[in-house]
Amino acid sequence: MPNAAEDVLATCHCGAVSIRLPKAPAEITHCNCSLCRRYGVLWAYYAIAEVMIETKIPTDTYAWGGKNVDFHRCSGCGCVTHWYPRKAGRENLGINARLLDPKLLAAANVRYKDSADTGLFH
Ligand SMILES: [Zn+2]
Repeated sequence: MPNAAEDVLATCHCGAVSIRLPKAPAEITHCNCSLCRRYGVLWAYYAIAEVMIETKIPTDTYAWGGKNVDFHRCSGCGCVTHWYPRKAGRENLGINARLLDPKLLAAANVRYKDSADTGLFH
C-alpha cells in the first residue's frame, strides 16, 4: 500500500500529461453514458484545489450536452486524462483513474453509475 502521505501520480501513455493527486482514490466511478462508455474511462473525483495538472504539450478538449465540463486528452498519445468544469466556482474535477498504477485501481471500490438510463448508482 502506498504511504498516505505520498502523492499519487496519474500519467498519460507518453508522459506529457501528469496529474498529481493527494491520495489514491478510495472509490472510482464507472459511468455508462454515451461518452464515458466510448472513452472506456473510470473516474476518480477530487477537489480542484488538491490536484496539480502538469502538461508538457497542450491537451485537446471535447464538450457535449450542456457543455458544463471539458474532457481533456493528451494531444500526443490521445489518452483521456481528466474533465474540468467550465464554470468558475465548481470545486471538483474528474481524473481518469485508468491512468493510475493498476494496483491502486484494483484497491478502489468501483461504483456503477447508470447515466444512460436512471442516473442512479447501482
Ligand atoms: Zn500523452
